[in-house]
Amino acid sequence: MGTKIHADRVIWNVGQLLTMNPSQPGSEAGLPGQAGLGIVTRAALAFKGDRLVWIGKDRDLAGSVEGPAAEPQTLDAGGRVALPGLVDCHTHLVFAGSRPQEFAGRLAGSSYEEILAAGGGIHSTVAATRTASEEQLAALGRRRLRLFLEHGVTTLEAKSGYGLDTASELKILRVAKALKREQPVEIVSTFLGAHTVPREYSKDRDTYLDLLIGEMLPGGVGGVLRRVLRTGRLHARGGTAHPRARLEIGHGPQAARRTAQPLRID
Ligand SMILES: [Zn+2]
Repeated sequence: MGTKIHADRVIWNVGQLLTMNPSQPGSEAGLPGQAGLGIVTRAALAFKGDRLVWIGKDRDLAGSVEGPAAEPQTLDAGGRVALPGLVDCHTHLVFAGSRPQEFAGRLAGSSYEEILAAGGGIHSTVAATRTASEEQLAALGRRRLRLFLEHGVTTLEAKSGYGLDTASELKILRVAKALKREQPVEIVSTFLGAHTVPREYSKDRDTYLDLLIGEMLPGGVGGVLRRVLRTGRLHARGGTAHPRARLEIGHGPQAARRTAQPLRID
């Protein structure tokens, strides 16, 4: 036997370890379609600091790894599955209000337009988000993050877009930034001021776009976006026929990259 790898933390009795490496030694093909997962059954993992230093079969652990022998540095996975953290690339993490009653309404035959006319739809969430304090929004976001983590999500993209005015959009982004610091899930914020046209501008979409470009976005960014809007194509899908109109900016990948780059808010 060669020299053992030194580890300070071990997880053993892993029922299935998804290595995502199809040529991982000891991995099995698994069910059809699972070949790429590189599944090692009855597996173990060993860490040094925050780095993974060894993975393999449970039965090879003692012969390959020199490390802790007792709790809490050794964790019995109880036959569970271990897999890389999931990345959720589209979430709305920070908002107030809830709309499950609309689901019941729609099942009962109401159209989205009727629900919207009755004060429901996205405008109800926007109204609740605008009046909520940062503490209330943070508490709601925190609860959602715990659920994400319980389901294996370790990185998520969080869109704003339920404020739709400068102060409320900034409030959402501040809360997302604070949440990022206080818990383990990695949060990547996206400004989505063009989520929809807010109710007060429903008959004056251009003014809202001016506000978006001229006020909400930092000067240089707004200028770039304005150029893209002028030279590219801007269209509102569905428009008046569909109240959930989504503003879309149609342009080439280069312009998109140029526009998106400075919009990242960390
Ligand atoms: Zn969405």
